[in-house]
Amino acid sequence: MVYLNGEFTPKNKAFVGVMDRGFLFGDGVYEVIPVYAGKIFRLSAHLARLQNSLDAIQINNPHSKAQWLEILQKLLTFSPAPNQSLYLQITRGADVSRKHSFNALSATVFAESNPLIPKTKTELENGFSAITQVDIRWQRCDIKSTSLLANVLYSQQAKQQKVEEVILHRDQLITEGATSNVFMIKDNVLFTHPTGAHILPGITRDLVLESAKFCKLKIQESALTLAKLLAADEVWISSSTREVMPITKVDGQLINNGKIGQHWSEVYDYYQSLKYA
Ligand code: PLP
Repeated sequence: MVYLNGEFTPKNKAFVGVMDRGFLFGDGVYEVIPVYAGKIFRLSAHLARLQNSLDAIQINNPHSKAQWLEILQKLLTFSPAPNQSLYLQITRGADVSRKHSFNALSATVFAESNPLIPKTKTELENGFSAITQVDIRWQRCDIKSTSLLANVLYSQQAKQQKVEEVILHRDQLITEGATSNVFMIKDNVLFTHPTGAHILPGITRDLVLESAKFCKLKIQESALTLAKLLAADEVWISSSTREVMPITKVDGQLINNGKIGQHWSEVYDYYQSLKYA
């Protein structure tokens, strides 16, 4: 079952009109929210980011926080899975004709939930590979927009090259992954790109920073060169569905001789404790 514009409907019966601006222009925003043991994780942070995305593209939030909670909780009841990944999308809605500029429209609201099976620590300890690419995306990567063509192409490249992620760099500086935020450790200091127009302010990024603080790591929010990333002691990526994941090979080059770092292990453990706190 999915939620579409006020109704809960079987997925194969949920349809959106061809004039919907989400279909025509990718004119919409979305959120992905993990659910652990039936509890929606960091809902307020996700709804705050959703509000920022909506404000940035001038769509009125169609629901209050209480209404969102009601919709999302009802969706969760359709699956027995304790851990789920909620997806919600709001597009500007449908107009009578296709033009780039817009009128005030009734937003299209879609939400669904799927089982979430995060990798175990043992699986993660094998380490993962990434490749790097020039960041060709626009200058408003802080908006969680459904216009994801560049990210789609990067992810397809990752799939074809059998790597976990594509790490992006703009003007020689690492920004984030195609579908994740990027961290590196050098000499016991954790580095990650500062928030701003060039990255999505990941909710997991905040959780990783919170975990790193607990682990007494020094944190520096500054962008790094690709050369520094390749010479890192540890490289991690983070996202709501992957949590915090160690990258041990970048562009075919081993990070820390391919060994998982101790800092990752500690941050991972604390992160796990937050999920069920
Ligand atoms: N950056 C990009 C480009 C993403 O697509 C995502 C998640 O999909 C993230 C970062 C991580 O965001 P979050 O931790 O909120 O899932």
